[in-house]
Amino acid sequence: MNGNSKVRVGFIGLGIMGRSMAGHILNAGYQLNLYNRTRARADELVAKGAVWCGTPGEVAAASDIVITMVGFPRDVEEVYLGDEGIVARAAPGAILIDMTTSSPVLARRIGAEAAKKGCDALDAPVSGGEGGARDAKLAIMVGGGQAAFDSALPILQKMGTNIVLQGGPGAGQHTKMCNQIVIASTIMGVCEGLAYGRHAGLDLDTVLQSIGGGAASGFQLNTFGARIIKGDFAPGFFIEHFIKDLGIALAEAARMQLDLPALALARKLYQQLAEQGHGRSGTQALFKYYEK
Ligand code: NAP
Repeated sequence: MNGNSKVRVGFIGLGIMGRSMAGHILNAGYQLNLYNRTRARADELVAKGAVWCGTPGEVAAASDIVITMVGFPRDVEEVYLGDEGIVARAAPGAILIDMTTSSPVLARRIGAEAAKKGCDALDAPVSGGEGGARDAKLAIMVGGGQAAFDSALPILQKMGTNIVLQGGPGAGQHTKMCNQIVIASTIMGVCEGLAYGRHAGLDLDTVLQSIGGGAASGFQLNTFGARIIKGDFAPGFFIEHFIKDLGIALAEAARMQLDLPALALARKLYQQLAEQGHGRSGTQALFKYYEK
């Protein structure tokens, strides 16, 4: 699917991530059809030439490729499989790409329903955060068929730089769970290291200067650690979304009879924070647990 002006792309979900991702597609010259739960979030892109559609189904009916970047698996289910959903209205041959972090089981179900309509589905969750979305440098981990992947690649390349087909339907979501499991323990380590430093009376800026360039360096420490030190707990990635991811990973691990104690602890700590009203804070707000 080359020839930007001819390929019609639909995009559903214009939040922290989706707005930037959809913007790159529009800037690349594709026709862009949009839907989002809150219409106002589409205004900026509509002003630049994107077309507003009234339902996910309308987006699908007008598009060759449909991309979704919504919040939770229940949102994915609604936009794909609802009465006014994507699968009900997509034309045969359309490629449906869910980039939400969602459940591998649901990805396989959508793949099967799409196939009944003669459509291909890819699960293609991302990593790289709001900065990766803004700079079109996301890592995109894909599950689905090779032919659909090859067709979708030019569009995915407008949003990311590290794009890998991991296997059949659901393999992209499983890979994203590997990512989230690594992050869960890493962010706990970042918060514990900085809490220790503060209690030891150290200047955390100079601590970060040292450890941010050593063997502990990495995205969680260097990006979120720096925000923690500044007292910036605004969301790049919502705690409520991370709890969703940890729940999916734990459910899949249980199904595989795999014990992941660090993952279970991370979920417990994040759930406590959410109960205290921090669900819409960024994941770096885990530091508040250690400030008690
Ligand atoms: P977000 O800001 O909450 O964006 C989600 C968007 O989807 C919102 O604009 C929301 O509408 C829309 N939406 C939700 N349900 C919908 C529905 N049923 N119909 C239509 N629109 C719907 O979240 P985000 O941070 O962009 O994250 C999106 C997904 O990517 C999540 O699964 C998250 O876990 C994952 N992710 C996030 C990051 C990150 O750093 N933020 C990184 C990697 C992956 P409203 O405007 O009405 O809220």
